[in-house]
Amino acid sequence: MQGIFKFLKSNWFHFLVLLLAILTFCYGYYVDPLQNERIYLRTIYQFHRRIYDATLGHLPFAFVYVLFLLILVWLGKGIYDTFKFIRERKFLTIFLRLISSAGLIYFLFYFLWGFNYKNRPIHAQLNLPKIQVDSNMVYEDAFHLIDVINTLRDSLSSDTCHLSEMLYNKETEDQLRASLTQLFKKWYLPIDGRVRVRAIAPDGILLRIATAGIYLPFAMEGHIDKGLPKVQWPFVMAHEMSHGYGITDEGECNFVAVLVCANAKDPYIRYSGLLSYWRYMANSLLRIAPTLGQKLVAKRSASVKNDTEYIKLKLNSYPDYLPVVRDQIYDAYLKKNGVASGIQSYGTVINLMQKWKFSYHNRDLYEEMYGSQVTEQLNEKRK
Ligand SMILES: [Zn+2]
Repeated sequence: MQGIFKFLKSNWFHFLVLLLAILTFCYGYYVDPLQNERIYLRTIYQFHRRIYDATLGHLPFAFVYVLFLLILVWLGKGIYDTFKFIRERKFLTIFLRLISSAGLIYFLFYFLWGFNYKNRPIHAQLNLPKIQVDSNMVYEDAFHLIDVINTLRDSLSSDTCHLSEMLYNKETEDQLRASLTQLFKKWYLPIDGRVRVRAIAPDGILLRIATAGIYLPFAMEGHIDKGLPKVQWPFVMAHEMSHGYGITDEGECNFVAVLVCANAKDPYIRYSGLLSYWRYMANSLLRIAPTLGQKLVAKRSASVKNDTEYIKLKLNSYPDYLPVVRDQIYDAYLKKNGVASGIQSYGTVINLMQKWKFSYHNRDLYEEMYGSQVTEQLNEKRK
């Protein structure tokens, strides 16, 4: 009996971590989405944001580098302790330490951000209309937007060669945040804190695992690959920033990112967002309705064509490591967290945009993108 007490006393921290992990599991299992939005998204998560963004968010470099060093030290200590316990034949302690380490990662992931997976999807939070999206609607949207994109592109530079990387504005992160918080306010979504998105080195570090950006709950910041073509930076930054404001689904973050960019003042940011969205539509049509897709692609101006080719060229210079394994891991991760469509969820941006077009949200922005005449047609369709 005394031995058990001694074991409990000397390992109290690891038992506490296990208890937290169990409570995390129980909360996630029993909470319903509306309750979670009230308890977690609108209260606990906002508290995290205010603390983090007022402190580590002001570091002149990404916290992820410090986190990486801390993980190395933690692993080093773990290995040292394990060898010590093997010599002392304390196998139960090794087992306890292993599961408490997994428990700590599990607890921190959900407590710092992951409980947002339990919120309602954005189409439910925004009460977007339930409409059936078909390829003609997508074609009409893309057909209209390519004119807007061609004009925007011409306003940035008259040179038809791909856009110079020099045109990227250093204020982009702040401008995106201003645009995002303006949108979220109108949607009654919480906006405490000041989510950071950092460009991390070396070039290709994320692109080689086939992702342009990543939001790390343990670092509470979004990250984009420094090697990403600059014209994609605003869109990918807006995507990662939406994760930081509590959106978990990839397609929903893309949807928010399109609107955040379209709502920004800087034409470079608007161009980045609309071009990314247009490319989603064009690629999807090229797959399901190739004739329509080809008709669309032919409508790009020479400058837009050169920009997209430059994007492809630059991305191809960072080929994937083990793409199949990476896809399977990420797919399993998304499905485990309740994103039924897994990796395909990135493409739901198209559906969400069509639903948003038929909603009553942000009509000023809608008119800016589609013109006031289209609003009249939309009102007709709604009747
Ligand atoms: Zn994402």
